[in-house]
Amino acid sequence: MIASISHVKKVMGESRAKKKFGQNFLIDANIVDRIAKVACDEDLKTIEIGPGLGALTQMLLKYSKSVDAYEIDKDMYEILNETLKDERLKTYLGDFLDADLSIYQEKVNVCGNLPYYVTTPILFKLFESDLDINRITVMVQKEVGDRLNAKVGSEDYSALSIEVQYLYDVKNELNVSRNVFYPVPNVDSAVISFTPIRERDAEFEKTFFELVKNCFRMRRKTLHNNLKDLYDQELIEKIYEETGIDQKIRAQQLSLDDFMKIHQVIYGGKR
Ligand code: SAM
Repeated sequence: MIASISHVKKVMGESRAKKKFGQNFLIDANIVDRIAKVACDEDLKTIEIGPGLGALTQMLLKYSKSVDAYEIDKDMYEILNETLKDERLKTYLGDFLDADLSIYQEKVNVCGNLPYYVTTPILFKLFESDLDINRITVMVQKEVGDRLNAKVGSEDYSALSIEVQYLYDVKNELNVSRNVFYPVPNVDSAVISFTPIRERDAEFEKTFFELVKNCFRMRRKTLHNNLKDLYDQELIEKIYEETGIDQKIRAQQLSLDDFMKIHQVIYGGKR
């Protein structure tokens, strides 16, 4: 079993886990099994981000049709290819942020115990991609999980939470103690799943997500201060007038529906 302290210590030998790649390896086979069961469907391919030594990969292979795994670290990539020899496994060496996801024409599941330093860009890449996603299941720091699930008005509410809640049914599947990793990180984690709830509309999403990010550009500032550098005064006045939104409000007080109304005023067309 790859998810065990003895295996990790054996293959790592004298080498250290690389902090710069957010390497903390799962050493609890029971947790890995639970994540894989949530993440996989036996008739679908699973894309794995950051397979590392292959603890999760091994279980994803058990419950999926096939696995495509993207690993940035050459040392991990080589160990992985040595450890798991399965014709249903394809491994890619490189940064997942550079991966060409247009090669996938089929419906897929996506899973990963995400490196914390790059969690948000990876999630944005997935959310904004054209992938036909059945479900995304990721392990993230507990705090990130809270942000993804944050409700309007809360401190954790952000551009990320809005994008996510526009597109997905977000579920906290499992809280995971820091003690099931080696080396032990400073924080606990959570396994979060995302199931799509909308038809994708690339044109709408591009401008909508950009608008949401712009409104959160300077979090502590009012909506007005974030909008005034981007749009002319006349359009901004029209936004307040047509949506009834108070210009002194801050982005974190706006609901998903409010953002959709603002988008409607700026871009017209669909809500
Ligand atoms: N999946 C393994 C596990 O659960 O034991 C390892 C998880 S570890 C938290 C994150 C893994 O992602 C590491 O193997 C790291 O090298 C890899 N990684 C870091 N940044 C990456 C990136 N941008 N693209 C692909 N893999 C990355």
